[in-house]
Amino acid sequence: IPRERIRNFCIIAHVDHGKTTLSDRLLQITGTVVESKLQNQMLDSMDLERERGITIKAHPVTMTYFYPKDKQYYQLNLIDTPGHVDFSYEVSRSLSACEGALLVIDATQGIQAQTVSNVFLAEKHNLVLIPVINKIDLPTANPELVKKQLEEILAIPADTAILASGKEGIGIDEILQAIIRHIPPPQAFPDQILRALIFDSVYDPFKGVILYVRMFSGKIKKGEKILLLSTKKSYEVKEVGIFNPKMVPEEELYEGNSGYVIANIKDPSEIKIGDTITWETGGTTSPLPGFQEIVPMVFSGIYPLNSSEFEKLKNAIQKLQINDPAITISQESSVALGSGFRCGFLGLLHMEIVQERLRREYGVDILTTYPSVVYKVYLRSGEILEVDNPSKLPDPSTIEHIAEPLVKAYLIVPSENIGELMQLISEKRGSCETTETLDQNMVILHCLFPLNEILVDFNDKLKSITHGYGSMDYKPAGYRISDLVKLDILVNGEPIEALSCIVHASKAESRGRAIIQKLKERIPRHLFKIALQAAIGSKIIAREDIGAIGKNVTAKCYGGDITRKRKLLEKQKEGKKRMKTFGKVDIPQEAFLEILKTD
Ligand code: GDP
Repeated sequence: IPRERIRNFCIIAHVDHGKTTLSDRLLQITGTVVESKLQNQMLDSMDLERERGITIKAHPVTMTYFYPKDKQYYQLNLIDTPGHVDFSYEVSRSLSACEGALLVIDATQGIQAQTVSNVFLAEKHNLVLIPVINKIDLPTANPELVKKQLEEILAIPADTAILASGKEGIGIDEILQAIIRHIPPPQAFPDQILRALIFDSVYDPFKGVILYVRMFSGKIKKGEKILLLSTKKSYEVKEVGIFNPKMVPEEELYEGNSGYVIANIKDPSEIKIGDTITWETGGTTSPLPGFQEIVPMVFSGIYPLNSSEFEKLKNAIQKLQINDPAITISQESSVALGSGFRCGFLGLLHMEIVQERLRREYGVDILTTYPSVVYKVYLRSGEILEVDNPSKLPDPSTIEHIAEPLVKAYLIVPSENIGELMQLISEKRGSCETTETLDQNMVILHCLFPLNEILVDFNDKLKSITHGYGSMDYKPAGYRISDLVKLDILVNGEPIEALSCIVHASKAESRGRAIIQKLKERIPRHLFKIALQAAIGSKIIAREDIGAIGKNVTAKCYGGDITRKRKLLEKQKEGKKRMKTFGKVDIPQEAFLEILKTD
């Protein structure tokens, strides 16, 4: 198929607006997957993604479509993009592999914050947008309202919008034809020199690193010597192919194609997403645009619950990082927790997903520390430190002041919830700079927040106040000096490093109380009394005690029933496995997890 009949596109949508369902329909109608084989939601392959309704990895698929107007076959390459704010860097790199995008909007929900931010991103990449108003089968669908929003908020002509239902299969052919008509074919580079953009990579234990590429010019085939521009390393190509939707080897990939390249790359760290592939000899020296440095925003310590599992954890984290280069890791050790890792994430959701995958896919029992942002600590000596770990905070007497990272957020919310939201915003030390009316029901708020405040539960609270109708997105907005202190949690006088956090002085007491309350509810009684304290330096600001208990758990079995007794003991052993001992106190892992949700 010649370049003129290739289209590279992606789908951008707010979470739950139906991107996956629609993608499945496109695959089905183009015969890429046969209906009977169409597993629900082909593209979202990870269980975790399915549960949370988000797509983490960009995953391309090549479809062939017969266009009835000119009776020709077209190659349509769909490059998947994640919808959540945490992953906007992945959205961005998928966009740089496309010439156009379907903008899917739920007809019952209208435009949401992520829709707006994704449209901005797409426009930055000069993509042609095709608006798709989805879920029109629902009785509450209001396509007219969405059209109005399209024009008023995004300045996209509403008459170009396609009414569709991924679920009922309405408007699917229309979408495919609009892709062919409106999205331009890939541009040609007249020199025919190999230029391919690496927009993602995965690691396969047998094949090594598999590069997901978008061909911009020239050809690539087996046996050729290629060079990666940023690392200047060369490799021999072992296999090239397309995703259909499974990997299918091809003779060659040529300009306009999207597919994969396997080149005997054993070490995933040699690969930079956004890098350009060219020939080893006679190649180009100027990289394709699309490279974006990934900056982690949230840090947390990850430790094996059982210190003998350190190697297992190390392996698991390294494997995870291969498929998710957005994670940064460095080894660290702590007196209380032993050896572990300090990991950087794009946001809190990203962090939760990584932690969950370590547990589920790699079966490592881990303990994670309270998430932290990167603070700038100005010392009296004039030195400036960047601290992402509360336990690394220097002695308070040496600190001049501490600055915290801010984010510019925009919230799209129902106007009727404004009152309650303003309260939430001020609770989170945010300020609202401007409000814009979106339509008769919705408003856009432009706010400034300390990142640290919206990390843990802001999104959940926003959703609950707005009954799911509110949405938000944010981007970094520099630093501001604030009155920040280090809050320590002590169990029987011993500080639990994993629970230390840096908080605004005005919140230290309530945060401290909340944490020790959760601990009190979750630490089982011991043979001795346990004191739980929250402290700033040497000042105790909150305290709770857990009374002593002397009884054996089996005591109430009255001796008789041996199987019941054994069951109880086994259960107790099981519980033990998930405990971490501090001093003489066993703290269940669950308590740590629960505290992460505290505020
Ligand atoms: P994604 O998060 O954007 O990938 O959204 P999904 O495709 O997973 O869809 C989210 C939810 O909306 C699922 O429960 C789907 O069954 C439902 N859904 C998707 N498309 C339609 C549609 O056209 N009509 C209706 N009624 N429901 C849909």
